[in-house]
Amino acid sequence: MEMTTLPTLSSLGFSPFFEQQLDDSIDERRIARVAAEHRGACEVWSVTGVWPARIAGRFHRHNSHAPGVGDWVILRDAPASDHPAIVERLFERRTLFTRGAAGRDARTQVVAANVDLVFAVTGLDADYNVRRLERYLARVYASGADPAVILNKSDLCDDTRAATIEVESHCRNVPIVVTSALSGEGIAALRALIQEGMTVAFVGSSGTGKSSLINALLGDDLLTTATVRASDGRGRHTTTHRQLIVLPDGGVVLDTPGMRELQLLDDDGLTEVFDDIAELSEQCRFRDCRHAGEPGCAVLAAAGDDVLMAERLDHYHKLEREAEANELRHNVRLRRKADRIWGQLSDEVALLRKWKGGKP
Ligand code: GDP
Ligand code: ZN
Repeated sequence: MEMTTLPTLSSLGFSPFFEQQLDDSIDERRIARVAAEHRGACEVWSVTGVWPARIAGRFHRHNSHAPGVGDWVILRDAPASDHPAIVERLFERRTLFTRGAAGRDARTQVVAANVDLVFAVTGLDADYNVRRLERYLARVYASGADPAVILNKSDLCDDTRAATIEVESHCRNVPIVVTSALSGEGIAALRALIQEGMTVAFVGSSGTGKSSLINALLGDDLLTTATVRASDGRGRHTTTHRQLIVLPDGGVVLDTPGMRELQLLDDDGLTEVFDDIAELSEQCRFRDCRHAGEPGCAVLAAAGDDVLMAERLDHYHKLEREAEANELRHNVRLRRKADRIWGQLSDEVALLRKWKGGKP
């Protein structure tokens, strides 16, 4: 956190929703937000600055009850440089993105907690795809966050109006911003959607311009200046960026690989989009019915009488397979990426400590 002045809790996103979970008065310095997490170690932000922290052993590591990036936590003691901070308690989350199958708790992991607004980014070039946007929105709704759509690279599109109208008709009541990170078009409108104390995230395919947009929001504080050049151990220098970024005009960006490349649909998202199928499946004989020929399947019975329903069921099965394949690929790739980034982050923390004369 390259802050010349120390932050207030509210500038980091601490809102009345969290405040009202505090019963007694508590030393404000014990309240912190997880800014990076990896295998039980994390970096937390508090009103006293950035601290490395350890997660108390009683949290199960790899499930959704363990603290993840974006979580608000209470530390055992006010952080000090002579002993590591320990994450003691977790605030109830306002919103939550997880990875892994719903219901199978042991496999569910936190992708991001307490994101208020998610921008689904699509490029107005070959990347443009309304169906994919719709599926991003389904995931965002399932998390409890609000969605918005960014149509980026307007400089590469002759008819931004047609695209806007099409997106409007598919994504009702969702703010749409047309931007060009290159020319600066729409950046002010984007900034206007991000209020002080709000946590936002960007999702979308790689190459749609998420980094460029974050940089545009950072203005003179380019993402590269919010980073410390750290050696990756092989003598090469790599530039990493923070997973939580405080914007100069207020607001916090949560930017992790897991969030950026949000897997498109998990069970939650599918249920949201196919609520008719979800409703029918409550009448299936088997609780875990996959509607693929099981006896007593209410969904198949309905699809037998209804062409539209049959088509939807087909689509549902296709997306389900896609989601599963996605999840497998995704988990392997993310784990590698997280390992790499964490290695760099620890170096960053070490560098920061050195810089500030041992005070993190
Ligand atoms: P990310 O993978 O989503 O973070 O995408 P990047 O921000 O790294 O951008 C991918 C590429 O698209 C880079 O070469 C950017 O310079 C380019 N790019 C990003 N935004 C725009 C835009 O608005 N217009 C144009 N023409 N190129 C852009
Ligand atoms: Zn069924």
